[in-house]
Amino acid sequence: MQTDSDPLEQHRLLLDLGEALSACLGVVSTSWLAAEDPESSALSELADAFFARGVSQGHWHQITISAAKAMALGDSEVAIPGFIESLGKSDSKSAIGSLRMLLQERNLSAHGGRPTTRGEAAARLAEGLPLIENALRKTSFLESVPWLLVRDVKFESRRGTFRADLGRAMNDHPDFEAAQMTNVEPLEEGKFYYSTGSRMVEMSPLVVYKYCAKCHRPEMLFADRVDPRKGVSLKSVLRGHQWFDGELAVDMAALLRPPGGERAPEFA
Ligand SMILES: [Zn+2]
Repeated sequence: MQTDSDPLEQHRLLLDLGEALSACLGVVSTSWLAAEDPESSALSELADAFFARGVSQGHWHQITISAAKAMALGDSEVAIPGFIESLGKSDSKSAIGSLRMLLQERNLSAHGGRPTTRGEAAARLAEGLPLIENALRKTSFLESVPWLLVRDVKFESRRGTFRADLGRAMNDHPDFEAAQMTNVEPLEEGKFYYSTGSRMVEMSPLVVYKYCAKCHRPEMLFADRVDPRKGVSLKSVLRGHQWFDGELAVDMAALLRPPGGERAPEFA
């Protein structure tokens, strides 16, 4: 019987983890650029990918590097704390460098080069584990950038603020930790935001919380493509489930402003 200690299974999990971390960095970076630097050419390049074949890990690495550059050039008050220090470099020893090497290993595995024996898997795992450890260590600032699902919002007219009940996502754990916050800006129920400590950055429609008929519960899904007929393709990175949402295509066009984006409302 195969178990989690099977090197073939562990090798697969290693590549999944590299992909999940790349996507997390990518959506944080894209949301930040859309909020703080919406004219960025990096966003229009990402739009080309979203509205064509879909985003890959390589696109997420590129937008992460672009966000780090934009933060380094811009007002330090709006930068995500720890982001520039963690992701301002993309050499072989950096987090992005390690994730790129894991992506090479994934591409090799996907194109017929998957390890076929436990011995081979163990050897390739031994090369890959230091890479994911390095990437996770160098992106540990993400622990201070919580992802928050807005469950309920009440306007407090006396203070002109919004009181929000939130669910705080905990890594890949399916449940959320209850949290509350008072915000000056309005927040929208049902949407994900991340907190930089000083502001809330909206992550929809890159990350959504949607009922999954396969899991029989809502789950966190990442957008990876916009299909001209079916709408936004949403995937659960860790469970592999995929859904399409027609309504979100309009939101995606508003976020990324693709060339010919005026066509996007037809999706609705
Ligand atoms: Zn599911």
